[in-house]
Amino acid sequence: MLDPKRFLTALKNMGVDEYVFAAKDGPTLAELKKTVLSCERCPLASTRKNVVFGEGDPKAAIVFVGEAPGEEEDNQGRPFVGRAGKLLDQLIERIGIKRSDVFICNVLKCRPPGNRDPEPREVASCKEYLLSQLDIIRPRIICTLGRHAYNTLLEVDVPITRIRGKMTVFRGTPLLPTYHPSYLLRSQNKIKDAWEDMETLKEMLRGR
Ligand code: SF4
Repeated sequence: MLDPKRFLTALKNMGVDEYVFAAKDGPTLAELKKTVLSCERCPLASTRKNVVFGEGDPKAAIVFVGEAPGEEEDNQGRPFVGRAGKLLDQLIERIGIKRSDVFICNVLKCRPPGNRDPEPREVASCKEYLLSQLDIIRPRIICTLGRHAYNTLLEVDVPITRIRGKMTVFRGTPLLPTYHPSYLLRSQNKIKDAWEDMETLKEMLRGR
């Protein structure tokens, strides 16, 4: 059995400074998607039209995490495609990148009827998929959109106004919470704060 320390030292001596270790046993994003598309773990399976797995660059530097699909997302099977989605696109452009450069997903992959809040048992059933997505993509930064995504990942219960724009770390990855675009559509006076958060993301991507 090769001593890992000696192995890494040997690589360094050969001039290799960066290593990428592939996860040996975990699924690929495509394999995970296949599983999620047929999921019936919680009662939302019987009311959804489509599973909304998420979309974007599988090697994205930033993953945006929202709460759950809405009506339009449920119809199309894609995340953030309605008015809130257009606003999210504008936020992403503010970073100086395109929607296709990031990965966008939700805590829940199926729409709660009437866009009600996710129930704890639904979150408990679905959270593992989100964690797997983050494990596979391994982004440099996670940006949570709204209270639910932040509280789900951090396992806390705090209002978004208290944590928005305050950087934290989730399992070794920097995490920046910002407002959900749906909230911003209703609260235009908060958009300035969201622009600020995108500036922060831009600087982080530049490594500042
Ligand atoms: S919400 Fe998640 S756990 Fe529930 S059925 Fe959809 S994919 Fe499965």
